[in-house]
Amino acid sequence: MKAAVVSQRHPGKVEIQKITLRALEAGEALVEVECCGVCHTDLHVIQGNFGPVPGRVPGHEGIGIVRAIANDVSSLRIGDRVSIAWFYEGCGVCEYCVSGRETFCRKVKNAGYSVDGAMAEQCIVKADYAVKVPAGLDPLIASSITCAGVTTYKAIKVSGTRPGQWLAIWGAGGLGNMAIQYARNVFNARVIAIDIQDDKLALARESGAEITLNAMRDDVPARIHEITSGGAHSAVVVAVARTAFNQAVDSLRAGGKVVCVAVPPGNLDLNIVKTVLDGIEIVGSLVGTRQDLAEAFEHALAGRVKPVVQSRQLEEINAIFSEMENGSIRGRMVIDLRPPLCKKPDLEQELTA
Ligand SMILES: [Zn+2]
Ligand SMILES: [Zn+2]
Repeated sequence: MKAAVVSQRHPGKVEIQKITLRALEAGEALVEVECCGVCHTDLHVIQGNFGPVPGRVPGHEGIGIVRAIANDVSSLRIGDRVSIAWFYEGCGVCEYCVSGRETFCRKVKNAGYSVDGAMAEQCIVKADYAVKVPAGLDPLIASSITCAGVTTYKAIKVSGTRPGQWLAIWGAGGLGNMAIQYARNVFNARVIAIDIQDDKLALARESGAEITLNAMRDDVPARIHEITSGGAHSAVVVAVARTAFNQAVDSLRAGGKVVCVAVPPGNLDLNIVKTVLDGIEIVGSLVGTRQDLAEAFEHALAGRVKPVVQSRQLEEINAIFSEMENGSIRGRMVIDLRPPLCKKPDLEQELTA
């Protein structure tokens, strides 16, 4: 079967190769991949930013249909539509796994990084960890929920934003756009979106941001203090820029919380006086648990969030990564691996029924 593989010969690139999948082991299922979104984390993986992984199949926004299961599997059936997420598997018994914080498991496996992911025609999942996609949710939509959606949904949960409060979101690209929709339509927050590109800010307004600020032109913390009469209640930073984190801290009112999602290199410069005197909280949020993902899917099924997706072919993968690096992507790029016949929704219903 065809797969994108992290190149050994060309650092920072992937190659399309024919590879053979190993046999299923206990607890596993074979998934025929329908589509897989392309995430900034995939770019970190292929560039070796988390350590070199030549030969690895990237991809952790996968959606596909279960075609085979190991003998001992009872949580999935053949024909189920499932997701292949960054949180691929936890140990199931540690303090994090048993306390609703499974993504922090020290023995975690991540799809497309520590195990092969979904940028391939087929992949293997751990049956108990592959979250089912609700019937009626389009696979291209579900794919963006599997990482961008659940990551932002979880981050806003972590922020503790209450209805009517001001939430400022740094970054209005693929992740930021989802964050704005969850913030507005699920958490009923008042949203301020911050970016450095006007086209992304226009999309942010269409997606529910009440105020948009361009960090190249506006004094963001000053404007936020003015607009919100004292500062935002919370901030979510999905922009891959260190300055965004510092601006977020400076834009909060007393008791405010910054939720860090993006992972630019370097350190956060923290104003200690403000942090102490204003009781500022700073917390990281990493993807979401299986339960978070199931909830994130339900909100998409109910139409509260609509990812902006563009379908592309597997062969275009290196071009997509280049577009990602130069910031020209609007919404989410999703690799569609379905045969042409299946791409018509009515036919797809018949084939998967
Ligand atoms: Zn991702
Ligand atoms: Zn664990």
